[in-house]
Amino acid sequence: MSQVATATETRQEFPYFTEEHEMIRQTVKRFCREEIAPYAEEWDHVGIFPKEIFKKAANLGLFGIRIDPEWGGLGLDWWATAAFLESMAYADSGSIAMALMVQSEITLPVLDELGTRDQKEEFLRPAVAGDTIAALGISEPGGGSDVAALKTRARIDGDELVISGQKLWITNGTRADFIILAVRTGAEGHKGISLVLFPTKTKGFSVGKKLEKIGNMASDTAELFFDECRIPARNVLGEMNKGFYYIMHNFQGERLAAALGAMSSMEKSVRYALDYGAERTAFGQPIRHYQVWRHRFAEHLTNIEAGKWLTYRALDLMNRGQKCVREVTMAKLFTSELSQKVTYDCMQMFGGFGYTTEYPIGRAWRDVRLNTIGAGTSEIMKEIIAKEEKL
Ligand SMILES: Cc1cc2nc3c(=O)[nH]c(=O)nc-3n(C[C@H](O)[C@H](O)[C@H](O)COP(=O)(O)OP(=O)(O)OC[C@H]3O[C@@H](n4cnc5c(N)ncnc54)[C@H](O)[C@@H]3O)c2cc1C
Repeated sequence: MSQVATATETRQEFPYFTEEHEMIRQTVKRFCREEIAPYAEEWDHVGIFPKEIFKKAANLGLFGIRIDPEWGGLGLDWWATAAFLESMAYADSGSIAMALMVQSEITLPVLDELGTRDQKEEFLRPAVAGDTIAALGISEPGGGSDVAALKTRARIDGDELVISGQKLWITNGTRADFIILAVRTGAEGHKGISLVLFPTKTKGFSVGKKLEKIGNMASDTAELFFDECRIPARNVLGEMNKGFYYIMHNFQGERLAAALGAMSSMEKSVRYALDYGAERTAFGQPIRHYQVWRHRFAEHLTNIEAGKWLTYRALDLMNRGQKCVREVTMAKLFTSELSQKVTYDCMQMFGGFGYTTEYPIGRAWRDVRLNTIGAGTSEIMKEIIAKEEKL
C-alpha cells in the first residue's frame, strides 16, 4: 500500500463495485505482489516469463471471469473484469498484464460467444483451466490497422481448410496452443474474412522470430508462418465470411480492457511517484512539495478522474449490452494518450533513478508506450470517433 493516500487509491466511491469485487482485487493484488512483481525486471531482461503464470492465473479464475460456468468460468460481469484488470497494475509489468489479457479478454470471450459446443469442449475448457495458451492472429506484416486488407488465405478442400500466409505482432505467439486466426476465405475487402480456430501443432505452421521490443519485453510477440496448413473445416468460428464483423465487435472488449489497464497502471505510477517525492529531498524539502509538482499532479489526477468516469461509462454500457463503440473508443483514446504524459512525469520525479532499472517506474514508462499503438492506434480511434460523430 502506498504511504501517501490519494483519492484514486480506492474504488469504494464507485457504486458499481461490491464486496465480491473487492475480494477479486485483493486476490489479484496478492498474486501480482507475490508471483510477478518481484521477478518483473528479470523476466523483461530475459525476454520471457514462466509459462506456469498462466496456470496460476487460471487457478484464480482469471481466464473465466465472464465465461459461462459450464465451461469452467465464473459467469460474472464486466465490473468483476474491471476489478481483475485494474489490480493487474500491481504486477508492475505491462508484459504479464498483456499476456494474460490476451487469454482472458480477447480470445476466450469470442470463443465463448461464437463457438459450438464441440469447439468449446476442445478449445475453451482447457484454456479457461490454464492448460492451454491462446493467441489472436489478425495483424500481418502488410498492415495491422487496415484489417479488411489482410492476405492470409484459407481455401476449402473437402472437409478441410488449407491456410497459407503470415502474421506479425502476435502476443503469446511463440507458445500458443491455438490461435483465433483471421483468414481470407472470400473476396477482397471486409466481406471475405473468417475466423478459425487454429491448433499450432498443425503441420506447416512455424514461428519465425520473436520480436525484440522496447517495452513489454517479457511478453513474446511473434512472427508466424502458415504453409499449406490443413485444419478441419469445422474449426471455423461463427459464420464463414463474417469474421470482420466479429473482429470489430471483439475490439470493443479489447479496447475497454486496454483503457482499464492504462488507467490503473498510470494511477499506480502516480502513487509510486508521490511516495518517492515525499521521501526524496532537494534544497531542504521533499520534492513533491514544490508547487510545480503539486500543480502537475493536481492536473494529472483531474485528468485521471475524468478518464476513469469515461471508462466506467463505457463499461456500464458494455455491461448492459448497449451500443458503446463511441464511448469505448473515446475511453481507449483518452486513457492511452493520457498515460504517456502521466507516466513521463512520474518517471521525471525520480530523476536519474527513473532512468535506471532499479525502480519499476522506468519499466512502466517503456511499457505504456504501447498503449497508443496496440488494440488500434490513436489515429484509428479518432477515425472511428469521427465516423460515430458523423464529422
Ligand atoms: C507489442 C505488440 C503486441 C501486439 N499484439 C497483437 C496480437 O496479439 N494480435 C494481433 O493481431 N496484433 C497485435 N499487435 C498489432 C497491433 O494491433 C498493430 O501494431 C496495430 O494495429 C497497428 O498496425 P501496424 O503496426 O501495422 O501499423 P500501420 O497500420 O501500418 O500504421 C502505421 C501508422 O499509420 C497510421 N495510420 C494507419 N491508418 C491510418 C488512417 N486511416 N489515418 C491516419 N493514420 C493512419 C497508424 O495510426 C500508425 O500511426 C501487436 C502490436 C504490438 C506492437
